[in-house]
Amino acid sequence: MMIDFAGIKKDYLTHQKKIHFAIQRVLDSACFIMGDEVKKLEENLKNYVGSKYALTCSNGTSALILSLMALGIQKDDEIITSSFSFFASAEAIAILGAKPIFVDINPKTFLIDETKIKQAITKKTKAILVVSLFGNIPNMEKINSIAKEFGLFVLEDGAQSFGAMYQGKKSGNLCDISTTSFFPAKPLGCFGDGGAIFFNDENLYEKIYALRSHGQIKRYTHEYLGINARLDSLQAAILNVKLSYFSEILQKRQENAQKYQEKLKDYPEIFLQEITKDCKSNYAQFSILSKNRDSLIAYLKTKQIPTAIHYPIPIPKQKAFSYLNVEKKYFSQAQKITQEIFSLPLHAYLSDEEITYITQCIKEFKGI
Ligand SMILES: *Cc1c(COP(=O)(O)O)cnc(C)c1O
Repeated sequence: MMIDFAGIKKDYLTHQKKIHFAIQRVLDSACFIMGDEVKKLEENLKNYVGSKYALTCSNGTSALILSLMALGIQKDDEIITSSFSFFASAEAIAILGAKPIFVDINPKTFLIDETKIKQAITKKTKAILVVSLFGNIPNMEKINSIAKEFGLFVLEDGAQSFGAMYQGKKSGNLCDISTTSFFPAKPLGCFGDGGAIFFNDENLYEKIYALRSHGQIKRYTHEYLGINARLDSLQAAILNVKLSYFSEILQKRQENAQKYQEKLKDYPEIFLQEITKDCKSNYAQFSILSKNRDSLIAYLKTKQIPTAIHYPIPIPKQKAFSYLNVEKKYFSQAQKITQEIFSLPLHAYLSDEEITYITQCIKEFKGI
């Protein structure tokens, strides 16, 4: 049995006709950057997420950079963030000259430990950038209230959480600014790079709109120093098609995750990610912990089961951040988890038979 890790090709083949039609429409229009498809996508995204505004951009990383720029984040500002995420969450902060202040994670949810946020706040703190890792959303109620008390912005790196919910609201509509990514392997992926920014404050609209295209408020009139982070029309057209059936994809992902949970929950060798209270995850990754991770994934490989490690190194331990000299106590739980974590195949096209086979192979594995 050859098992597909992310189901990207299966999804394309299932919806091939509609996607080809949309691509052809863009080719015929010869409008390749922004344009009607992008406008339509922003409207569709906004309606889906429930935020007042949605602006697309070139990828999930530029979405973070543009959001921080729009809030006026600059050199020497401090931004509190999680020590365990994809590198880009903290990279976006540092690339603007600001300082990421790393907070350790809760080892059960793999998310920023909100009980440790207050002690990380200083006079220089401007914002808290949380990450909804693998689609699990942190305790936003608590985090928003801390931010309110100290006059900070809250940003959600929702690169992995498109479609996830918290207290009945969608990821993207839970704090000041949220971002997402349409990288092909994300729950809503395009056929290249893409991203989006969600917010409710009208004042941010013009600024983000301008910043993503060289700070222009109209052609060749540059109000700000911006970047080039526009979305192209082909990706927007593909996303308009994929968004039209995304609810079904999401539901199947959630059902498949539930099947894994049921089959693995009482198995002592495996620890499952605890989904936070009030959150309905989109299971962007089905990441689990095992003390024998490396030998288990080697065993699964012999059974044709692909796995991946999200992520092998805590962000503060990356060489690129060695200049910060972050003390180990700020990422000790993250460190522990990077040694045990790995992700199983999860997507809408995974069959019951495949899930049964994968979980049986895991249970069959006998240590080192
Ligand atoms: C994928 C990802 C990003 C970056 O998105 P790109 O579209 O690849 O730039 C940022 N943060 C997290 C948590 C991600 O998973």
